[in-house]
Amino acid sequence: MRQEHDDRPQATRATRPVRRLHPANWALWRRPLPFIVVLIVAELVALAGFVVAVAGTGAPSAEDWLHLAILLAGATVHIQLTRRQEERRRNRMQSVLIDLIAVWVFPAVLVLPPALVITLIVAVRAQRWFVARRPAHNFVFSSVAHCFAAVLAGELYHALGPSGWDGLTLAGSVREVAFVVVAAVVYEAVQLLYVGGIIALAAPKPTVRRVFGSKADNVLEAITTGLGAITAVLLVTLPPMVLVMAVVTVVFNRLAELEQLQADATTDPKTGLRNMRGWSESAERALGRVRRADGTLSVLMIDLDHFKWVNDTYGHPAGDDVLTRVADVLREVTRPADIVGRFGGEEFLLLLPDTATDGAEHVAERIRATIAGLAIDTTDKRGSQVAITGRTASIGIAVYPDHATTLDGLTQAADAAVYEAKEGGRDQIRLSPPLGQ
Ligand code: GH3
Ligand code: MG
Ligand code: MG
Repeated sequence: MRQEHDDRPQATRATRPVRRLHPANWALWRRPLPFIVVLIVAELVALAGFVVAVAGTGAPSAEDWLHLAILLAGATVHIQLTRRQEERRRNRMQSVLIDLIAVWVFPAVLVLPPALVITLIVAVRAQRWFVARRPAHNFVFSSVAHCFAAVLAGELYHALGPSGWDGLTLAGSVREVAFVVVAAVVYEAVQLLYVGGIIALAAPKPTVRRVFGSKADNVLEAITTGLGAITAVLLVTLPPMVLVMAVVTVVFNRLAELEQLQADATTDPKTGLRNMRGWSESAERALGRVRRADGTLSVLMIDLDHFKWVNDTYGHPAGDDVLTRVADVLREVTRPADIVGRFGGEEFLLLLPDTATDGAEHVAERIRATIAGLAIDTTDKRGSQVAITGRTASIGIAVYPDHATTLDGLTQAADAAVYEAKEGGRDQIRLSPPLGQ
């Protein structure tokens, strides 16, 4: 399922147990007004949907209760065995958080009446509450959105008129699969709309990735729902086999964490840019493409001027704020195909594919001017608010194939050009001397 992940620090429950629970102290009221209104309206719409759906179905049968018990048992094994992993995963997540609980909820969508689908989600979410460490309104909203998506998908699936899964002809089974796919799409789309909508309202600068999650997140969610469909088939035809799914989900959780670790290995945690390993991997691929196409590319080395002075004057945390702001600038002024990385301390690398000297100088000038115009809000050594202004950068440019033909050669050439810019008085751009000089 999909949730908004809010990583702002929360007051700890141990120190402030009662005040946090008081409605006047709810974190919800500190969010922007449109956020509060949309959240409450969306929850009321969902609650109305639950009432209509539950009122429209009869009392659950004994078999329904048994199916619920099996799914809940599987989900509980999954959640309890992956608690530590899930905590680690949550600590690293960006705004969208995908958890793998659809493996247990999606079969309920297909097999159980709405009242039991909601019961299952509530029982599962209650167990998750202890690892969530998020504001309650956020957690409740994710839970309501999940229930709404599940109930709506279930209603639609049953309205399509699926028959039993025993003794289907090939054509009949293809039709059944199509119905399941429709239900899965609705289940995902409603969550996407609800959770994406609320993230878009909450985020200071909503991007497609922030709102909808990364491609890997969405693939993970789709696979999880697919596994949920398999769980449904097992539940109806061979209930004890659902135990196997509990093992599958635990292994799958670990795979999801591995993917995250892989991303961590190529990311600089302070700025979120690629680290040298990540930058070199992407840059080598780009260079290979340009070589094969007989094209050109540029490498820019950006070194902040007198950065040590920032640390000495305002403290290292303020220095870090300058670094993250400069990283934001680099992300903002570049195109999606450009490759941005943090080379080391206060040095950044930028590869511009299919860009020759003129284009590279143009980009470098934009970066130089933007950094020079920044006012970075931060706190000084004594914790007082300050705006750091007048920071500058020296930028060196090396162009393939004019200045070097390998990535190392280009990086060295750009670095040499940075030193020329420093010698020349800083806050300027220098082009590497041509090859062989
Ligand atoms: P120049 O204009 O010649 O480049 O001078 P500079 O002070 O920028 O360069 P120098 O290489 O002397 O100092 C770089 C400083 O960057 C020293 C180091 O403490 C600081 N630094 C490196 N990494 C980080 C970091 O992650 N955070 C903070 N706050 N400072 C860092
Ligand atoms: Mg430096
Ligand atoms: Mg420097």
